[in-house]
Amino acid sequence: MLYQWQFYPYQRRFKQALQTSHGAWVMRDGIILRLVDDAGNIGWGEIAPIPWFGSETIEQALAFCRQLPSALSSDLIFSIPDTLPSCQFAFESAWEGVREQAIDNAEPQRRRDAERQVPLVLENSTLRPQNSNIAAQNSALRPQNSIVAVQNSIVAVQNSALRPQDSIVAAQNSTLRPQNSTLRPQNSNIAAQNSKPDLLPPPPHSSPLTPPPSLLTPPPSPSHSALLPAGEAALHAWKPLWEQGFRTFKWKIGVHAIAIELEILHRLTQELPEAAKLRLDANGGLRFDDATQWLERCDTIAAKPNLLVTIEYVEQPLQASQFEAMQDLSQRYRTPIALDESVATLQQLQACYEKGWTGVFVIKPAIIGSPSRLRQFCQTHTIDAVFSSAFETAIGRQAGLKLSAELANPDRAVGYGTTHWFDDAATDDFEQLWQTL
Ligand SMILES: [Mg+2]
Repeated sequence: MLYQWQFYPYQRRFKQALQTSHGAWVMRDGIILRLVDDAGNIGWGEIAPIPWFGSETIEQALAFCRQLPSALSSDLIFSIPDTLPSCQFAFESAWEGVREQAIDNAEPQRRRDAERQVPLVLENSTLRPQNSNIAAQNSALRPQNSIVAVQNSIVAVQNSALRPQDSIVAAQNSTLRPQNSTLRPQNSNIAAQNSKPDLLPPPPHSSPLTPPPSLLTPPPSPSHSALLPAGEAALHAWKPLWEQGFRTFKWKIGVHAIAIELEILHRLTQELPEAAKLRLDANGGLRFDDATQWLERCDTIAAKPNLLVTIEYVEQPLQASQFEAMQDLSQRYRTPIALDESVATLQQLQACYEKGWTGVFVIKPAIIGSPSRLRQFCQTHTIDAVFSSAFETAIGRQAGLKLSAELANPDRAVGYGTTHWFDDAATDDFEQLWQTL
């Protein structure tokens, strides 16, 4: 099976610059992918790199897309190198989308086929009066059997399409086929023509992708963590988000002087209503001494009987290179520590797990790499995982939320409360998104 594909680079401006200890983030650059199979089934993917977390840059992702052929095989998709984790995520997500739409489209046809078979049995039974009782019994049983058969066949198709281990096998097999290497300079012209400005009409059987209803409808806000701005602005930003139903908030720290931020933390914990949860995200920007101050303060807040706000964890207090120091801090303080930048890619996540990290893992699907390999890891290792946004569009968001629903710790809010940082984040119509971004 070959998949025709197109890609489209986009830029989205944050409503206000996102201040973190990495600096100010003004523009989100990304690439939307659209894969189509022979039957016109469509899958969408999004490349949304964060290079300061260790993913590829947008330029590297674009260069990769431009040298690809105009038709992609599954082998090629599953052999994207680990140095391009955002591309791995996007192409595999799109591939999964095509397969899922094929299953969705197959189901009504299978039901129609089954229904066509039932009247034949009934007609036959009327032609043999002597066997009418037996035939009537058989005909009564057939519809049930045919429904069971349809259900079984659907399950079989779903299993064959969605089994992550199949993808792993495909990926492993693909590594044995150097002729399928992803670099095909001779096709660069074709791939360059494949980007959106030269869009061809969709294949004749294509239909607009309708995302599954469960993903179209935004999940209830309490299950998502809303991102607050850094500094004093957080004191005003949480209220409208609380009114929308959010109960968990993430606040960026390590942006201003620690004394100022600790004072803001004091006010936040005084003002936030009971049952609120707060995540403090340092983005690796604290010195060791500052990290101990923050954790001491958090432990003190947790010990106050009259304060009912929970500080859920401190996220990535130190740089990724200071793993042992963070492990030491996690044993010295009661406030949990979450790793984020340290586990940006699947290889890093595996390495931290193997080094004995037992705290929270923040997983950003958009930059983690292969979804099928992430599934395999999370299904074979027990980790306390929180899935989190990379400020992607609804396309990457849907793919990330799907993985989160499968793999995350259900007792923790999902880190996708970020759509209020953009003006254009509302649409779940991917064709419209494709045309307007
Ligand atoms: Mg973080």
